[in-house]
This record gives sequence, structure tokens and C-alpha cells, in this order.
Amino acid sequence: MHRTRVRVVQDALDANQTIARANRADFDRAAVTVVNYMGSPGAGKTSLLEQLLERWEAYQDEVRIGVLEGDIQGRTDADRIAEYHVPVAQINTGISFGGECHLDANMVRSALPELPLDEIDLLVIENVGNLVCPAEFRVGEDLRVMVAAVTEGEDKPLKYPLMFRTADLVLINKVDLLPYLDYDLEKFHAALDAVNPGVPRLLVSARTGAGVDEWGAWLRQEVAARRQVA
Ligand code: MG
Repeated sequence: MHRTRVRVVQDALDANQTIARANRADFDRAAVTVVNYMGSPGAGKTSLLEQLLERWEAYQDEVRIGVLEGDIQGRTDADRIAEYHVPVAQINTGISFGGECHLDANMVRSALPELPLDEIDLLVIENVGNLVCPAEFRVGEDLRVMVAAVTEGEDKPLKYPLMFRTADLVLINKVDLLPYLDYDLEKFHAALDAVNPGVPRLLVSARTGAGVDEWGAWLRQEVAARRQVA
């Protein structure tokens, strides 16, 4: 019994890899850098993205951005992003995909026709809020950016190592709340380095906008680096 289940899981992951490669090929053809953007529910993913888009207008000619929103239900986040007049599509895992707690390559593939890939340079895919399942499924991304809010505690990298280990950038959000919390930032850094030594990290606040310019600069640098190789 146990072996059968392992087999089924492996087949599902293999199938996901195949579709992720097809997504990757489409992104490469359109020269789009893709970010899989993850974090727990309430970490501030969409709010930080709004702060980013508010500052992006000055760079929109240089790096055209698009957004794919993943949620179990509703288009609240896509509607928020649409306010910034960037291309946006919404995937609901609850309607067509059995309410999955993550995006997989097939879900992302199903939404690609809704996005003008040839007219964007950077696609941010906001995953379903969850620290576990999203980390297991590649969707064809170049980079993984994760949001970890200081309200979540310092020990999360040790409890959810896969998500933190596969991140290319960690945004430490809600730092405006630090004076009110018993949160030990040094402890968090140590926990993060234990699972992903030296991974880039930025202190940010979706409320004040602190650190968001630096995040934007990091993203544009990553897009520029891929353009040079191409
Ligand atoms: Mg959101």
C-alpha cells in the first residue's frame, strides 16, 4: 500500500516536471523572467506587490511586469493588482483544480493564454498562501521569492525548510512591527542560514514601503542578467 502511494506521488511530480518544462519553453520564447512568489496566508504578499507596482511605473518601459494570481477562491487579489494597469490573470484552484493548496505547472499553463507574454518581461506568479505544498511544485519559474513576516516567529525556516531552502530571495515583512514584538531578528537570520546559507534577504514593510525599492532593484537586476545571457 505504502509503496503504491509513493509511486503515485512520484508520477504526479514527474508529470508536473514535464509541464513545467513546457511552461519554461514558452517563457523563454517570450523572453519573460518568471518569479514564483510564495509565503503563508497573511504574510503580506499581495500588499507588498501593490507597493512594488506603485513604484514600478518609472521602470515599466524598461521592464514590463505582469502578474498571475493564485488563490483557492475569488478574484480579490487580481482586482487589487488590476488597479495598477498591468496585465493580470487569476487562477482559482477551488473551481477547476479540486481546491489545491498550491499552484502546479498545469494550473499555470491553463492561465497562460490570458497573459500577453510577448508584451511583458517579468511575470510574478503569486502562489496560494501556504508554507508547505507550493514549494514542492515547480511551475517553470526562474526564481523563487518568499515572504516571511516577523509576526510568524523566528523558527519558521527550521519548521518549513523546503520553502526556505529553495528561495532565491527572502522578504522579511512587517518590520515596522518589530518594536512591539518579542521577535529576535538575529535568531531568524540564524535559522534561515541553517537551511539556506547566505540567501539574499531584505527587511521590508508593506505598510510603510520600507525596502520595496531594494526589492524592485533586485528584480530588475535579475531580468537584466537574463537578457545578457539570451
Ligand atoms: Mg494574496
